[in-house]
Amino acid sequence: MKIHEYQGKEILRKYGVATPRGIACFSVDEAVKAAQTLGGSVWVVKAQIHAGGRGKGGGVKVAKSPDQVGQYAGQILGMQLKTHQTGPEGQKVRRLLIEEGADIRKELYVGMVVDRVTQKVCLMASSEGGMDIEEVAAHTPEKIHKVFVDPVTGLKDADADDVARKIGIPEASVAQGRAVLQGLYQAFWDTDASLAEINPLILTGDGRVVALDAKLNFDSNALYRHEDVVAMRDLDEEDPAEIEASRFDLSYISLDGNIGCLVNGAGLAMATMDTIKLYGAEPANFLDVGGGATTEKVTEAFKLMLRNSNVKGILVNIFGGIMRCDTIAEGVVAAAREVHLSVPLVVRMKGTNEDIGKKILAESGLPIISANTMAEAAERIVAAVQGKVAAVQA
Ligand code: ADP
Ligand code: MG
Repeated sequence: MKIHEYQGKEILRKYGVATPRGIACFSVDEAVKAAQTLGGSVWVVKAQIHAGGRGKGGGVKVAKSPDQVGQYAGQILGMQLKTHQTGPEGQKVRRLLIEEGADIRKELYVGMVVDRVTQKVCLMASSEGGMDIEEVAAHTPEKIHKVFVDPVTGLKDADADDVARKIGIPEASVAQGRAVLQGLYQAFWDTDASLAEINPLILTGDGRVVALDAKLNFDSNALYRHEDVVAMRDLDEEDPAEIEASRFDLSYISLDGNIGCLVNGAGLAMATMDTIKLYGAEPANFLDVGGGATTEKVTEAFKLMLRNSNVKGILVNIFGGIMRCDTIAEGVVAAAREVHLSVPLVVRMKGTNEDIGKKILAESGLPIISANTMAEAAERIVAAVQGKVAAVQA
């Protein structure tokens, strides 16, 4: 789960990480008032969307008067902000952060992720902040410093100080750098974050170390123990199909292709998507209906896939273990009838009650294309969406 920058900064402040003072706003009036409340002479108007790269996309503007804050707020609110992380259609801006302008001497980078190999939190830091860290990693990897944090000790003073010095924090500010790094680590740990990034972390003209940006992602498997984090969820920023899927306990991710796939088990779903690609097409989604799918769940899954107007065919790939193939077949038939399915449907079933399942499909009178192997199923659905359906049926 993702949150907005201003929410991330709220969390970081609780852990002693310095940030500029700022106020979240939903309208131009609120933005102007926020500037007046904050005082000072320079403000930054920042679009709040769940994607980075806002600065380059025109979503971060420096204003020199409350009037100008109002002007920029008017331009940014409601705009369809496109960044390299939003996709080509962009993301609509509904919230702003009005922040005091910082006096930037140097922009640095700090990030944290869970490293699967060492099973530790990996702290990454660089003197090259403010830009795409992927570029730094690709061209000058020696400028990224890493520490794998032992969960028993946490981030030690000596390690934090060492990293602070390596990224160019001057001696007089090293203690502040340490506080930021340790605060970020503790926030990451306590909230079950999966990613935390401050880009840029800045050194100000007067030697302070301040987080100018904040990005936090959380492990959704741990959200049950973080009510305060869940309260920060902004459904406007999430894919409506994925929200709908979570209501029915379906694991669904929208993708760019045109073949919808309905599978039981995440591994089999991944393999199914690979097989579709192998036969020259692209999956329109990842969809795992889980082990105990009922007719209702399968129907909801069909509806979800068909909300995507790109879907030109559906591939159902089921392994009947605990789940019986006849249950799935009944679900598929009921769902196809209920949604008046008008795109080609290929079903491949293996396992418990396979024969009964196949009989149900065959006797349904629906134009369902049957397949025995995954390869056959993928080949047939790809052929069907490419208009070669008659050839495979013959
Ligand atoms: P994004 O990463 O989405 O582009 P950032 O929050 O990193 O958004 O802002 C982009 C750039 O805008 C920063 O690298 C920094 O140069 C500038 N900036 C952001 N916030 C402030 C601020 N409060 N004061 C001065 N400059 C800022
Ligand atoms: Mg940034």
